[in-house]
Amino acid sequence: MIKENLEKIRATLPEGVTLVAVSKTKPVSDLQEAYDASQRVFGENYPQEMRDKHEVLPQDIQWHFIGHLQTNKIKYIIQYVTLIHSIDTASLLEAVNKEAKKHDRVVDCLLQFHIALEETKFGLDLNEARQLLDSEEYKQMENVRICGVMGMGSFTDDMEEVRKEFKHLKSIFDTLKSDYFADQPQFKEISMGMSEDYPIAIEEGATLIRVGSKIFGARVYAR
Ligand SMILES: *Cc1c(COP(=O)(O)O)cnc(C)c1O
Repeated sequence: MIKENLEKIRATLPEGVTLVAVSKTKPVSDLQEAYDASQRVFGENYPQEMRDKHEVLPQDIQWHFIGHLQTNKIKYIIQYVTLIHSIDTASLLEAVNKEAKKHDRVVDCLLQFHIALEETKFGLDLNEARQLLDSEEYKQMENVRICGVMGMGSFTDDMEEVRKEFKHLKSIFDTLKSDYFADQPQFKEISMGMSEDYPIAIEEGATLIRVGSKIFGARVYAR
């Protein structure tokens, strides 16, 4: 099933769009099945869970951290994480920089923006991002590299609302690209779109889509 689901999604992806298989709460055997179907990019939301899976699965997997990250848990992921999608405060970026330095790494990160209607969702707005990028602290950070933006659309059936939100994230990306990253080719990622809305996200310019239940089936939360 997982293999067929992956193949179905992949068949619809234009060049330049990377599928992040979101495997939170799913057992290692499900990830292995996806791996055997050539999936190499996985997204996880909980630091210890990602660490445990990283320890037992093949080493050529690229681990993307997509959940809300608390500074005291950075240590569980910092040595091997490929991309952190969820930088939502300046202090989190600073903490990631500090941990990355300990391991002599430069860690790729995305700035997460709040684009949804729900107030509970995390993320920066454009002014907060400007403050961060203009700060002296940011200019001193040598162990993080900002590669783009991430956002989550509203949880709604109203796909025109979601499309509007994705357009908003794309416009934030374009603004930051021209104002701060014009000469930095690594600033190229727009992470948006999940199981229910990824086709719209692709139409609106996504380069990374984060798909879970459409690959692995519905999640059952024990927590
Ligand atoms: C869980 C999650 C996803 C995947 O959600 P699905 O609806 O199962 O595809 C994508 N992005 C984030 C940030 C998530 O937490």
